[in-house]
Amino acid sequence: MREERHSFNVIIMAETEQFHTTCCIAGGGPAGMMLGLLLARAGVDVIVLEKHADFFRDFRGDTIHPSTLELLYELGYIDDFLKLPIQRAERVGGTIGDCKFIAADFTHLPTHCKFLALAPQWDFLNFIADRAKKYPAFHLKLEHEVTDLIREGKRIVGVRAKTKQGTVEVIADLVVGADGRGSCVREASGLAVTDLGAPFDVLWMRVSRKPEDSEQSLGNFRSGRGLVTINRKEYWQCGYLIPKGSLEELKKKGLAELQKEIAESAPFLREQVGELDSWDKIKLLTVQINHLDRWHLPGLLCIGDAAHAMSPMGGVGVNLAIQDAVAAANILAARLREKTVTEELLTRVQERREWPVKMTQRLQVFMQNKFLLPVLESHVRLATPWPVKLLANFPIFRRIPARIIGMGFRPEHVRTPEIK
Ligand SMILES: Cc1cc2nc3c(=O)[nH]c(=O)nc-3n(C[C@H](O)[C@H](O)[C@H](O)COP(=O)(O)OP(=O)(O)OC[C@H]3O[C@@H](n4cnc5c(N)ncnc54)[C@H](O)[C@@H]3O)c2cc1C
Repeated sequence: MREERHSFNVIIMAETEQFHTTCCIAGGGPAGMMLGLLLARAGVDVIVLEKHADFFRDFRGDTIHPSTLELLYELGYIDDFLKLPIQRAERVGGTIGDCKFIAADFTHLPTHCKFLALAPQWDFLNFIADRAKKYPAFHLKLEHEVTDLIREGKRIVGVRAKTKQGTVEVIADLVVGADGRGSCVREASGLAVTDLGAPFDVLWMRVSRKPEDSEQSLGNFRSGRGLVTINRKEYWQCGYLIPKGSLEELKKKGLAELQKEIAESAPFLREQVGELDSWDKIKLLTVQINHLDRWHLPGLLCIGDAAHAMSPMGGVGVNLAIQDAVAAANILAARLREKTVTEELLTRVQERREWPVKMTQRLQVFMQNKFLLPVLESHVRLATPWPVKLLANFPIFRRIPARIIGMGFRPEHVRTPEIK
């Protein structure tokens, strides 16, 4: 077999190109890009394989929470990040029936940025990629779709990926599955998943925003309806809750029905709902809440949505994925450099992150069952639940959701050094 060696350990065997690296990350989403950046910054050779050609995707959650902004501060990136065209939300609120309330007030958090930043995910990922590319140890390979794991006995030693040119193999001391909720790595690993169930799906769409509209991002809940409206300056990013699997039924009723339901949920959108004139403008998020029982195998670790798909409730998926990446880098970077990563260390990553994930998921399940389901199933005028009365009348209580949403359970901090 013909064998050629190139600069950073490339071996070409017939038509299968083979790369060697210390850490191969499948997926260039928030978890994969942040882990790639932190490891490369700490001097660990890393290859991130991303199946798409760029980061410009449909809406996938635009919220960058104070905990993530704090990490950008710790990395010295915050001033540049805040120069991007982001919006700041110091408070988020809701309406239930006719009761309008502020649900979370971030202005008291012990973080440098006391607000949610609203930025399209592609802006955030491009920002991280630009910083990561400054480190010679960082290699991002776009249009590389991971299709399988490579094993030696019980150990995972690499991945196979499909490219326009053919198949490549990446051999690594550690493979990280950060390829999201439909993770190929998780599937190929055979790791067991526990599904906590989610009774609703979300339709995401944009509706233009009038200058006189309120500034505030809101959850709008009326009997039988739930609509989240996120202020994105020129437009409202709208998330409409529907019972799980009911999109086809809604499609049969027609777009006019959807427009009517949205206008009823948020009357301030009445004039603009006609913009939703094609189902192509409406994206379905099939909500899942699940987690792997075990996040690792010898030579393999899963993080982010690949380890635990979150409900969009609280908009915490992006931020939890990033927290996983920071914890993984803190625990693994030095040992990856020494090439002494053991499975016991991978267990420590899971132990560190499992508790915050499970706490958040439990809270999401509690909220969906005790709050969202009754709203979606109600056909009478909604009574204001007592926690909402508390939030509406006693501002101090707004600090509790702000802490849970903005910082999460057990926030991580960057402990990895910059090695130049
Ligand atoms: C429509 C929609 C709306 C959402 N809304 C919100 C929200 O409001 N708030 C919130 O917090 N979260 C939201 N989420 C979830 C949020 O996007 C995720 O929780 C978060 O992005 C998880 O980050 P991740 O890096 O683990 O995975 P992902 O962001 O899913 O990134 C995985 C990456 O891996 C790539 N990939 C996948 N398979 C392969 C493969 N085989 N080979 C190579 N690359 C691969 C993907 O292209 C992607 O870039 C939403 C998701 C969707 C789909």
